[in-house]
Amino acid sequence: MTNILPTYPRSNLAFTHGEGCYLYSSDGNKYLDFGSGIAVNSLGYSNDYLNKKLIEQSEKLWHVSNIYQIPEQERLAKRLCDVSFADYAFFCNSGTEAVEASIKIARRYFHKKENSKIKNEIITFEGSFHGRTIGSLAAGGPDKLESFNTTVSGFKHIEFGNHDLLKKEINENTAAIIIEPLQGEGGIREVPIECLKGLREICDQNDILLIFDEVQCGVGRTGKMFAHEWSGIFPDIMTIAKAIGNGFPLGACLTSKTVGSKMDFGSHGSTFGGNPLASAVGNAVLDIMLEDSFFDNLDKVSHNLFSGLQSVQKDFPDIIELVRGRGLMLGIKCKVKNTDFVENARANKLLSVKASDNIVRIMPPLILSLKECNEGIEKIRATCESFKS
Ligand SMILES: *Cc1c(COP(=O)(O)O)cnc(C)c1O
Repeated sequence: MTNILPTYPRSNLAFTHGEGCYLYSSDGNKYLDFGSGIAVNSLGYSNDYLNKKLIEQSEKLWHVSNIYQIPEQERLAKRLCDVSFADYAFFCNSGTEAVEASIKIARRYFHKKENSKIKNEIITFEGSFHGRTIGSLAAGGPDKLESFNTTVSGFKHIEFGNHDLLKKEINENTAAIIIEPLQGEGGIREVPIECLKGLREICDQNDILLIFDEVQCGVGRTGKMFAHEWSGIFPDIMTIAKAIGNGFPLGACLTSKTVGSKMDFGSHGSTFGGNPLASAVGNAVLDIMLEDSFFDNLDKVSHNLFSGLQSVQKDFPDIIELVRGRGLMLGIKCKVKNTDFVENARANKLLSVKASDNIVRIMPPLILSLKECNEGIEKIRATCESFKS
């Protein structure tokens, strides 16, 4: 009997420590981690620099309330704004909180700007995942709320990629559109660049705010700091979390001055959000990611991984249907059951994560070397072979 509320199906693996891209289990095995704690441990495990920065800060000050100045948070906000479209950052502790903040900020904007009581509807897409608190669940679609006897108004959940339907559903109540530029849980489904541009146009034409949920695809995962940078267009609001703390709980909602300035004292808050310890870690993550060579290396290794996976696909067309995604956020669409694939990969000492649409997510730490990348490709090849025997 476990005393943990049974909300996760857990494998029997327990890890004692990690080093770079590897995790070591209590039964003495070494695993190459192509899951990264679901896109969290982007700088791998036991990073010396991150450890040093965390320990330094932990010996000075862990927490003070947001009713005081927090220079580490101030610095993190400035740096995130400097590398993005944003002028303001709000800090929290998780992805779902970042999404909740985005919903409040978007609705507040129209409440204040137009004194509008009706412009509160948010359009969301099928297959999306925005978190597990009530508002974020509602953004993920009404069926996610049904089993909790809950309905939430103000969300319209529509088919992914249906442009005509989208145009039809927009009316004077529409406040925002929220979308993951590259769906994670939904099965590594990328919004084509043309569609992102189209969304921006629709939003501009109809006075609608565009929210990008980059909790999974942001902070380097796709080979740029933020996934939407591939499209050349920008959102009004963006959520990030997973990788920004490399495992230390930290999330943020970023927004423009125009939109963010409608939030005033008391309109939102978080006890822990952006405390000195979390902010110090966030800054240390940026120190590494903003180094000149970081994205060049990432570019090389992600191309190597993609072409390697494609050649495995060609050799095992009965096991793998296709490979998709961008950067180090890749999906293997399986012809066998994705859960079986994850299990067989684990037997080959490779960790991966399942997603919808029978996808196995391949999301190694972004510091992956070419050698480790090739080792992973061979493990995936061996995983395919294991289905034949
Ligand atoms: C993981 C995720 C969330 C939720 O993050 P939590 O930290 O688990 O609350 C929200 N949106 C996307 C796109 C995610 O991948």
